[in-house]
Amino acid sequence: MISNIGHQATAQLYNHPQTSEFEKYQKNINKIKPAEGIKICLGANRPLLGHGGILLTPYCKRINGVNEVTNIDPSLAPEGKHLIMCHQTLRSNDIQTEIKFGLDDVKDIFQDQEYELLMVQTYHSDWPVNRAGTGPKPGNTTPIERLYIVGDGARGKGGIEVEGIAMGVNNTLSIIDQLTD
Ligand SMILES: Cc1cc2nc3c(=O)[nH]c(=O)nc-3n(C[C@H](O)[C@H](O)[C@H](O)COP(=O)(O)OP(=O)(O)OC[C@H]3O[C@@H](n4cnc5c(N)ncnc54)[C@H](O)[C@@H]3O)c2cc1C
Repeated sequence: MISNIGHQATAQLYNHPQTSEFEKYQKNINKIKPAEGIKICLGANRPLLGHGGILLTPYCKRINGVNEVTNIDPSLAPEGKHLIMCHQTLRSNDIQTEIKFGLDDVKDIFQDQEYELLMVQTYHSDWPVNRAGTGPKPGNTTPIERLYIVGDGARGKGGIEVEGIAMGVNNTLSIIDQLTD
């Protein structure tokens, strides 16, 4: 059985006797903290970045990076328009203040260029950016025989975002391969 909702949420779906192995597992997975963030989407009638890469913004208060996704896939906006996504980390529980910092950054980044604010989305709690942020790497196995965890709650070491998910899937396939050898 393979789950992609993370170790913690999966562990809530089954009962297990409190063996020392299971207690150790629970202690480990309790250390996992999600990566939380805010995304600010802008629309523009002409390109604001003009490339398909990521503009890194270390000088900003909150925004970490910006990309103009319509330079890769124009169908993500009405014809002739552009969609710009600004990504920021969530540094406190005061979401409205965090959003304000992000919107201040938007003004700093784009200055007098013309754009419209389309929406602000927040990702935290049960709907984070990644179920496991940087830090503990819980692996793909569980104390339950043949129950595996893949996805962004069990990414491979060093893997970022969906690359990390693919590393976890590869690792799980190797473990299953060894079982069937
Ligand atoms: C705003 C934002 C921007 C991102 N940008 C990038 C990016 O640029 N590049 C990148 O690589 N990654 C990015 N990510 C991260 C990436 O989207 C996620 O890491 C990835 O989609 C997670 O995939 P998953 O299969 O692990 O989990 P999910 O896709 O979340 O799948 C888990 C599924 O399980 C369902 N579920 C939950 N509980 C249960 C239950 N009890 N029973 C049955 N089903 C259940 C959920 O509804 C969900 O459909 C971004 C994420 C966000 C939020």
